[in-house]
Amino acid sequence: AQASTASIRDFAMIQAFYRNYPSRLAAVRAKLNRPLTLSEKILYTHLYDPKNIQEYKRGASYAEFRPDRAGTHDIGGPMAILQFMTSGRDRIALPAAMVCDHLVTANAGARKDILFADQFNKETYDFLRDVSRRYGFDFWPAGSGICHQVFLENYDFPGGMMLVTDSHTPTACGLGMLAIGVGGADLVDALMGTEWELKMPKLIGVKLTGHLQGWASPKDVILKLAGILSTKGGTNCVIEYFGDGADTLSATGKATIGNMGAEVGSTSSVFPYDSHMKSYLQATGRAAVASLADGVAKDLHADPEVLAHPEKFFDRVVEINLSELTPYINGPLSPDAAMPIDKVGETVKSKGLPQNIEVALVGSCTNSSYEDFTRAASIARQCLDKGVKIKTPLIVVPGSVRIRETLKRDGILQTFEKLNATVMTTACGPCIGQWKRHIGDPSQKNTIIESFNRNFAGRNDGNKKTQAFLASPEMVVAMAIEGDMGFNPLKNTITGANGASFKLAAPTGEELPKKGFATNVKGCVIPDFKKIEIKVSPNAERIRLLTPFAAWDGKDFVDLPLLIKAKGKCTTDHISPGGKWLPYRGNIDRISDNLLERAVNAFNGRSQSVWNVVNKDYETPAKTARLYKNKGIHSVIVGDDNYGEGSSREHAAMEPRYLNVSVVLAKSLARIHESNLKKQGILALTFVNPKDYDKIREKDRISVLGLKELAPGKTVTVVCKHEDGTEDRFQAAHSYNEKQLSWFRAGSALNAMKKAA
Ligand code: SF4
Repeated sequence: AQASTASIRDFAMIQAFYRNYPSRLAAVRAKLNRPLTLSEKILYTHLYDPKNIQEYKRGASYAEFRPDRAGTHDIGGPMAILQFMTSGRDRIALPAAMVCDHLVTANAGARKDILFADQFNKETYDFLRDVSRRYGFDFWPAGSGICHQVFLENYDFPGGMMLVTDSHTPTACGLGMLAIGVGGADLVDALMGTEWELKMPKLIGVKLTGHLQGWASPKDVILKLAGILSTKGGTNCVIEYFGDGADTLSATGKATIGNMGAEVGSTSSVFPYDSHMKSYLQATGRAAVASLADGVAKDLHADPEVLAHPEKFFDRVVEINLSELTPYINGPLSPDAAMPIDKVGETVKSKGLPQNIEVALVGSCTNSSYEDFTRAASIARQCLDKGVKIKTPLIVVPGSVRIRETLKRDGILQTFEKLNATVMTTACGPCIGQWKRHIGDPSQKNTIIESFNRNFAGRNDGNKKTQAFLASPEMVVAMAIEGDMGFNPLKNTITGANGASFKLAAPTGEELPKKGFATNVKGCVIPDFKKIEIKVSPNAERIRLLTPFAAWDGKDFVDLPLLIKAKGKCTTDHISPGGKWLPYRGNIDRISDNLLERAVNAFNGRSQSVWNVVNKDYETPAKTARLYKNKGIHSVIVGDDNYGEGSSREHAAMEPRYLNVSVVLAKSLARIHESNLKKQGILALTFVNPKDYDKIREKDRISVLGLKELAPGKTVTVVCKHEDGTEDRFQAAHSYNEKQLSWFRAGSALNAMKKAA
């Protein structure tokens, strides 16, 4: 059955939430007896055991939560579901949705690409459709939209808590929800209705004052903030926005800001409930949710004392005056490389990067609102009016079928098409390496500009030579006109078809469609919980049923070879790349062939080249680890700062575990990745003294001692035996609590859970 997108699924749950919110919050107030931030209100009212409220130390104590909703997609979903299936449960314990968005390759345009995707990904889609029906997910077939946009349009609600297997989940803050990107194993906790654990996050307060002017957009708020905080600055933090300026932003603008909170490593972002959220809820058929939120509106904000003295209640406060904000372009290769528009030309030139922009892309889950597209179209229209042909090919990726049909009805898409833009499927495509880019010489550095959120090497088109810059959709279209990074649309002029030069007027747009959103779109397939047989062929390429990982044998790890000492940025994209590998995310054996494919070996500065102690030669990390596995040898990965940053991709933890990596030891670990390592049974350690990273040599044999005495807060001893007979000893720390230690001992969180059941 197809459900109307305008219906409110799971309304009973939402009603119960708002009914209970005041009393749950009163209990929190009674216990903590202090003013509360909005983040704390949401977090503490979602504690798993509402009778056991206590003050949790931010950044230190673990708390257990019960989220309201969950979600996943076609690359995070298969592995999460495969894990859930091993639990033997009949149905999932909370409302959840499954969106097929990541596996559609952008190539020839929406119509052809979706037909190809339905065939090419049939095995995965059939599996996900069947498990959704049986276990209880709303199933959104390929072409419905990108998960975060689908959730924003259909499910998110103010004050709620949601877990989704994707790092851009905090997009839901556009509707005042505290939503968190997690790995599949964390999702399984929520699906099973068991406690979901998180270190109580620190809080960064961002005070917004003034209001946006001219070219400045919500995207520029987060591009500027990324420059202030850096890709690590939000680690283990929730970013809470407040101030008069916050109330001036549309709900979808807030969603954009929350979406890119992932780029500073934050756990989540949250905005207080306001009239813009109410209008968006009403426009998307959820006036009833808005009325319920209105009833508790006062407590969907931080307390007045917090707003009066934010420095007392947040761990860090940043202030941004929206009235003074200028447009930003960030990049390349890192989302925090922030450049105000008037610095872009000279910076790109001074770095020797290609000035010529080869492709410009707008849309994705980051910038797919009616406001975004109407503002971008207002720039496009100026070109058309003056007979200007844009120099850079434009690709448009609407975030959902509902927004696409609305844009089509209102003639907005046609404006882009008149500029020869290609409209791609409402799916992830060029954001995640699912892009058959038609490029000249891929071995040459080339520049692209996008309104997406992430610009790591190889992210968009799988090509490390591509230099991707991030900007607002209107800025992307403006830059595409001249196709030159030296062009400043705020200052420079363009020559019209009649030879006269003109300056672009600042973009204008509409927050919501005057005629409402299009309704001529299919919704999701709602589950009927029928006990259909879930068929997985033993030879299936895409899906492979899981065998539990072996329990820890109770012994120290002694003389393990180093699999890799990774140097510099090593994101989950470096550990388990996307692109051609995405289809295999449900087959642990197959996907493990990409292990650490993009990680750089600190000893030779190369990828795909690590020392293999068996063959005594350089091999790829995947081949080396597989050989070790076949010979029963365990190994160690050493990482640099913020190892595993970037996404919730649990494959980056499951693959090494599958190929016998026992320890990941890094200068620091990204939050979600650290949690994933723990859940999969890999010992996740950090150097007590980060300089000890330098002591690790290529042919070392590494021991980790004291594992029997492993306890919260207690360090372990690492011994590196060097090839020349000398050795180094140092201490490594961990952040395991007692429960997490039980996961390590049982071999995985899932094993521990089954043992406890
Ligand atoms: Fe898809 Fe890109 Fe959004 Fe991730 S960030 S959900 S890949 S569009």
